[in-house]
Amino acid sequence: MLYYFDLAASLAICTIPRKVGLQNCVMGLSLIAMNKHITLLAAASSLFLIPSLASAAPAKSNDEIIAVLRDNVLQADNIAYEIVEGLTTEIGPRQGGTAAEARARIWAVAKLKALGFENVRVEEYQMPTWVRGGETAEITAPFTQKMAVAALGNSASTGDAGIDAEIVYFPTIDDLRAAPDGSLKGKIAFVSHNMKATQDGSSYGAFGPARFVGPNIAAKKGAAAIVIRSIGTDYHRNPHTGNTNFEPSVTPIPAGALSIPDAENLERMIARGKPVRMKLKLTPQNVGMQTSGNVLAEVKGSNPDLPIIVIACHLDSWDLGTGAIDNAAGCGIIGATAKHLISMGQPKRTVRLLWAGAEEVGIWGGRDYGEKHASEPHAFAMESDFGAGKVWAVDFNLSNSASALRTQITSALAPLGVVPRKDPAGGGADVGAIIAAQKLGIIDLQQDGTKYFDLHHTPDDTLDKIDRSELRQNVAAWVATLAYIASYEGELKPEPAQ
Ligand SMILES: [Zn+2]
Repeated sequence: MLYYFDLAASLAICTIPRKVGLQNCVMGLSLIAMNKHITLLAAASSLFLIPSLASAAPAKSNDEIIAVLRDNVLQADNIAYEIVEGLTTEIGPRQGGTAAEARARIWAVAKLKALGFENVRVEEYQMPTWVRGGETAEITAPFTQKMAVAALGNSASTGDAGIDAEIVYFPTIDDLRAAPDGSLKGKIAFVSHNMKATQDGSSYGAFGPARFVGPNIAAKKGAAAIVIRSIGTDYHRNPHTGNTNFEPSVTPIPAGALSIPDAENLERMIARGKPVRMKLKLTPQNVGMQTSGNVLAEVKGSNPDLPIIVIACHLDSWDLGTGAIDNAAGCGIIGATAKHLISMGQPKRTVRLLWAGAEEVGIWGGRDYGEKHASEPHAFAMESDFGAGKVWAVDFNLSNSASALRTQITSALAPLGVVPRKDPAGGGADVGAIIAAQKLGIIDLQQDGTKYFDLHHTPDDTLDKIDRSELRQNVAAWVATLAYIASYEGELKPEPAQ
């Protein structure tokens, strides 16, 4: 869908030397001088239809030009949604290391080329791959009921016969930690928690350990298996999957997540005071080393001496849903942002898109990127991997010398309802390795995560959960940020900590 761009803003670029968009201006003016198609100026703003040349207004500042682009994106961006729609419709679930993820890479390469990016390519790596099998859970005593369960990534198999064992209940992960060694021998540990929705998603860090490390702890204490209350905040009868990790010296045990209604039902049964038994059958498999890969694409900068910028999402998803919010949305947001950036003319710095592979199952893509590009100079990283909820806050971690830049970005984000915070930006999983290697500048555009953990890693993570206006607001915030960063010639990396 085409929409209208402020012509005066396009022309005004020409009066602003050494700022974003100068190349666009030079290109546009030379085209005009050559009396070629005037609309090629619009082509430099390739997504916008310029209505006429009649009313050149007074020159606009660079800040105003970026504001116009931001506002147009906010009203009418469709690129982000098209990416999410395409990936969820034409690929669907795409777990790291699987054939579906390989199809997603092919899809991504075609999409990124069609959007006009340069150096679109795949960087492959090998990774151990775990795949889901059958999964059932049934309370066998003192009541008989089936429960909705999903295996956690890296869970061991119960075998086809399943495990029928007594439940030992732990209200929190700390209660499990306090259980005496050997006390769980032959039992199924059940760990609950009290996770509530939070805007900033901080409850994931607080309650996620029940999944991240609960199975490892239960295995060390001799448990035959573990089930946890899903790490989530909804009351649908959907378990939330996600990875768990066992230490190399620990033999993995079967590990599953119960849906939250089932976990609460189980708690009520336990409160009746009689021993509760569960028959658990999980038959996942480790299928050995498989190929995964990162998909990279670039907007080439005009100054090859300036260290590059990397912006990231992850292409893989969990297998239960179609991975709309986690994380097709992120790839849509950064893909659309980079495309709109091109419309402002060539940036000074190269902007590289990293659509990372195999994040969910262990950040294999992010680590591979960090290793392969450790010595290639980078200046700055951003990531989008927290759904499609509105951006509400911005965190910075930049050089002290970039305070004016920070003020510009804060001002450009304010009309979108985005407030600056004092927390330093941390980046994200897929840019973690390259940030660690090169101590990059970072900006985090914090999304509203109030509803995120209703859907996270469930069958409900599907396209219909995407709010198109909120998705556009994300792209607008990213455009308003990256338009400044991509042509900033000063130091971006923060000073080393004293
Ligand atoms: Zn994710």
